[in-house]
Amino acid sequence: MSDVILLGQTLSFAGDPFAAPWSEVTRHRERGGVLIRDGRIAAVDEGDILRQANPGAELRDYGRALISAGFVDAHMHYPQSSIIGSWGKRLIDWLNGYTFPEEMRLADPDYAAETAGRTLDLALAHGTTSLCSFCTIHPHSVDLFFEAARQRGMRVVAGKTCMDRNAPDGLRDTVQCAQDDTAALIARWHRKGRALYAITPRFSPTSTPDQLEALGALWAANPDCLMQTHLAEQTDEVAWVRALFPDARDYLDTYERFGLLGERGLYGHAIHLEPREIDRLAETGAAVVHCPTSNTFIGSGLFDMAGLKGRGLSVGLATDTGGGSSFSMLRTMAAAYEIGQLRGTPMHAAQLMWLATEGSARALHLGGTIGHLGPGAEADLVVLDLASTPAIAQRTDRATDLWEALFPTIMMGDDRAVRDVWIAGKRVEMT
Ligand SMILES: [Zn+2]
Repeated sequence: MSDVILLGQTLSFAGDPFAAPWSEVTRHRERGGVLIRDGRIAAVDEGDILRQANPGAELRDYGRALISAGFVDAHMHYPQSSIIGSWGKRLIDWLNGYTFPEEMRLADPDYAAETAGRTLDLALAHGTTSLCSFCTIHPHSVDLFFEAARQRGMRVVAGKTCMDRNAPDGLRDTVQCAQDDTAALIARWHRKGRALYAITPRFSPTSTPDQLEALGALWAANPDCLMQTHLAEQTDEVAWVRALFPDARDYLDTYERFGLLGERGLYGHAIHLEPREIDRLAETGAAVVHCPTSNTFIGSGLFDMAGLKGRGLSVGLATDTGGGSSFSMLRTMAAAYEIGQLRGTPMHAAQLMWLATEGSARALHLGGTIGHLGPGAEADLVVLDLASTPAIAQRTDRATDLWEALFPTIMMGDDRAVRDVWIAGKRVEMT
């Protein structure tokens, strides 16, 4: 494969803009370049410098468009793509009314394969180059998702959703089945190509203590795997957990006591947290994942980004499709900004872009590998048109710096802003 140089504006990060002033850790080049070699980023520099040093490289000039690391969606449910935008339910009703009937349909492998492919194509069209997905209880739902990602060259994380109670017939497994299926899927997929496995109890209300314990033991035996689940999304869910686990100190303890709290753990939502839970998440280095469009759409609450980042927690950003109301990480950043405003702690565009790329990648323990525009990273990139609609263009026209030019696209942009996507150094032909 010959070298390729992409030319345009470039945006990269040298650190966490929540831990240091954003201006000190961001690097913007007006006329930058990204040198791609063998599927990885070999260099990011001034465009002219890269061209002179690599005269044989193929050139692709994006003009004023912005080249960024591709977006990383750190929590979503590919089986729910078809029910996105369903009206009027809170969490428990949402699961029973929309989610479970749809997840039942993925018992049909043909439907599961079609849903997996369609979801990944939608993600790519929105500039999302990696995602971390829940599947269904059916092992083939995991195989078909990883296979669809392999065909597209995408780095993904996924796992079989385990549930052995409080779910309808046809969507429950058993302690033994969850353990055996998960062990077989880990052997088949974990670190095969770009695939990574996440042990996946849906949340503690749908797993018996025995199943949580079995999955905790499996994680201890496979510590390189990630573990993903949900935590403290809605107040009535927290009350339900308290009733189901009367001996637990809090919601997080229903995972912790069974070996399901650790550095490679990912806890979606994490809105209604007790002080002890925040302490333990900080001590263990576990990550929480903010799903802002879902939190407003299902009416869950306002995530405390400033407070949790202030405590040093690892935080990823995610769509939570289909509880979330958009496949777009731009729309997701906009919702995160709005929730920050409602809490009195609005975020800068640099912090939003960092969350959607570096922050999510670090939550998945893939920092420096994906979500990073720098040498050595896998060349998964998004090229953003910062004037993709007349409404955005007339605002961007007046911009005096990158942030003023970029923020309207964060707030008002969608898949029309995605000019191009590159996966592992190859340009994606959009269908
Ligand atoms: Zn979720």
